[in-house]
Order: sequence, then C-alpha cells, then structure tokens
Amino acid sequence: MQDHKAFILGRKSEAMQKELITSDLFPFYEKIFEYQALYYKDFLMEDCLSPVSINSASPIINASTLTFNAFAKRILLKSLNELTGLIRQYNEGLDFSLFLASVTDREGLIDQSARTLLSLNADAMKQLALDHRMGLEEFLFFLVNWMKPVFVSQQERMADSVAVDDWQNETCPLCGFYSDIAMIVGGKEGKRYLHCALCECQWLYKRVACAVCGNEKHNTIGYFEIEDDKLHRIDYCEVCKGYIKTLVIDKFKEPSDYDLVVENLFTPHLDSTAIESGYMRP
Ligand SMILES: [Zn+2]
Ligand SMILES: [Zn+2]
Repeated sequence: MQDHKAFILGRKSEAMQKELITSDLFPFYEKIFEYQALYYKDFLMEDCLSPVSINSASPIINASTLTFNAFAKRILLKSLNELTGLIRQYNEGLDFSLFLASVTDREGLIDQSARTLLSLNADAMKQLALDHRMGLEEFLFFLVNWMKPVFVSQQERMADSVAVDDWQNETCPLCGFYSDIAMIVGGKEGKRYLHCALCECQWLYKRVACAVCGNEKHNTIGYFEIEDDKLHRIDYCEVCKGYIKTLVIDKFKEPSDYDLVVENLFTPHLDSTAIESGYMRP
C-alpha cells in the first residue's frame, strides 16, 4: 500500500490554499489512512481469502463465494470499533450500533458484506444498508474503508498471479470492483491504466474506450481538459453517460511520484465539473 498519509501531508499547504479539501476533512483522512496502513500490515501476514481462481477470464476473487479465514475475520472485527468510532467523530449522526450488534451475533455477515460490495449490485447494497438502518452512501463509505486494508494486502500478496497487462476490462482483475481514477503514463508511450477503488490494483486499459462501459465508438467518447491544470482531464462517454477522472503523467515523471488515492481525494472539483455537464459515476 502506498503511504497515503505521507502523500496528503506532502500536499497539505497546496490542498488548503486551493481548497481541494475542507480543513475538517483533512485530519479525518489523515486518521483514515493511518488506520488503513496499520491493519493492512496485519493482513499482509496471511492468505486471508478463499477460494481464489486463476482463470484469466474472471477476476481472481469470486464475488459470490468469497470467504475470509478466521485470522482475517478476527482482525476485521478488531478494527471495526476503531473505524466506526473514527467516522463518528466526524459525523456524530451516523449510527453503526445495529451493524456492530449483528456482526458480533453473526460472523457470516462479514463475508456477506464483502460479497455484496463486490457483486456491484446497487439494489443488494441498498438493502444491506437499509437492514442496518443506514444510508447507502454512508454505508458504502464505511464498508470500502473497512475492507480496503484486507483487499490491498491480498492484492499485493497475489500480484504475480494478476495479469494486469492482459486484462483490458473496466473492472478490477483481482477483486472485480470499480475503478475510481485512471492515469495516462507519458513515460510508457501514453499507456492508460485504471486504478481499483478497493484493492488499489492498477491494470492496463485501452487508450480509446469508455472506462465505464467499454464503448469504443470514437464519436461517442471524449475528454475535457481542465483550465490551468495540465495534470488532469475528465474522460466521458455519450453512450453510458459515465466519466472517469484521469491523471496525465508527463514522460519526465514516474507513476510512483503520485498517489492515485490522494489524486482522487484532491480532485472533487473535477467530479463537480463532470456532474454539472451531465455525466456520472457507476
Ligand atoms: Zn480490486
Ligand atoms: Zn460508456
């Protein structure tokens, strides 16, 4: 896992000056990244998931059958109070009590939550949130942050078996989740990579295609450039009305000079521009 906390701290004054993030959210994310880095190290010690398949046509983790081992469940439970406490410090109105009670009662809820997240089924996700008297957006934010350390650690453990250069799909080759941001790497002949919002895997994707629906018709895809900002652009598609933010890295820089999680966090203005223009995220 990249050191997200170091990356946001390194850009703190710029972020504050340009109002890329509000001053109360900055320390919140500092703590979230600290939390993720701490538990990620624990999960890194073991293979936490089964079954995994090495079938090149589907993601390695099967969303409908995935199961965490006892080691992973123990750490997930241990980290749960810390994360929910952290989120409640910044949003007192959020009530996790029903989820916390259910998960202690019924260990299967951990697997079920991860399966629902990876199913990409919005109705099932909404239902799971509703079952615990939570709004979809808040529940999703919580779930992604809770599961992220385990998925990033497993992605790194399995990195050799993930065919990141042959996958060419819109969703993640390891966990099957959505991409949150893309990058174009000047130093690699302008190749385009997508970044997984959950396990942080990066995989090669077609240069000219919609990163949301895969549409390749030239006259229905395009991008906006951002005024005074050569580092970002927004790729959009007229077929699905989807968009993705893209970091454009010039050939004198390395991808490791950037952190896509932090780029995503510090570019809410790009989301506003895209949404005002009538596009949306899946
Ligand atoms: Zn993934
Ligand atoms: Zn599309």
